[in-house]
Amino acid sequence: MLDPKAIITIDGPSGAGKSTISRGLAAKLHFTYLDTGAMYRAVGLALAQQGVDLADTPALTQCLAKIELTLVPNGDDDVRVLLGGEDISQAIRTPEMGMVASRVSANPLVREKLTALQRQLGEAGGIVAEGRDMGTVVFPKAACKFFLNASAEERARRRQAQLAEKGQTVDYQEILDQISKRDYDDSRRALAPLKPAPDVILVDSSSMGPEAVIDYMLASIAKSAR
Ligand code: C5P
Repeated sequence: MLDPKAIITIDGPSGAGKSTISRGLAAKLHFTYLDTGAMYRAVGLALAQQGVDLADTPALTQCLAKIELTLVPNGDDDVRVLLGGEDISQAIRTPEMGMVASRVSANPLVREKLTALQRQLGEAGGIVAEGRDMGTVVFPKAACKFFLNASAEERARRRQAQLAEKGQTVDYQEILDQISKRDYDDSRRALAPLKPAPDVILVDSSSMGPEAVIDYMLASIAKSAR
């Protein structure tokens, strides 16, 4: 039986389907979904709004200390992101904010702040934590760790369809270039780079639908909990 206080981690590059899969898996397990990408996006937005330069350490430290970030479950499988009480859930979901988040996430002060907050949010357990360094850095003792991947072309195609659903028209090649740049930056940075933990279960979702991936993960979790 899976411990109801267990932590499950899902890491992987942008657009591999982590959010859909993590939400779906959390719902099936009756766990809380922790979207750590949203936290980096929120910090990116806060720094941009206040015009803080990452190289200006005193200004950055002061701004980070004041940031009040809240993740509010919204229905079964969604999360609202509040920055100082303001709902920024929509504002952070643009490809541009993804690039901004990637840039700020390489900063040690930003990572320190969010790693501490993520551990605090995960303290009670019963979570599915999604990001880049969940299994390697934030929750190295997680009960079950997954690394979800898909080809860059498939990820770009999915992201384009997702944005189209929200009424945003974005060029395929532009998305593919952004995804490739983010993959490159996220996996080569010095701090908490995107890489599979040694004890991770690798899942390639290029030719698998979300339901099949979730079923596969549930079976793996059940096996590891035996
Ligand atoms: O997952 P999402 O696309 O929302 O993440 C935005 C960016 O935040 C990523 O490209 C990555 O640079 C950063 N990130 C991170 N560590 C995490 C989650 C996200 O560095 N745990």
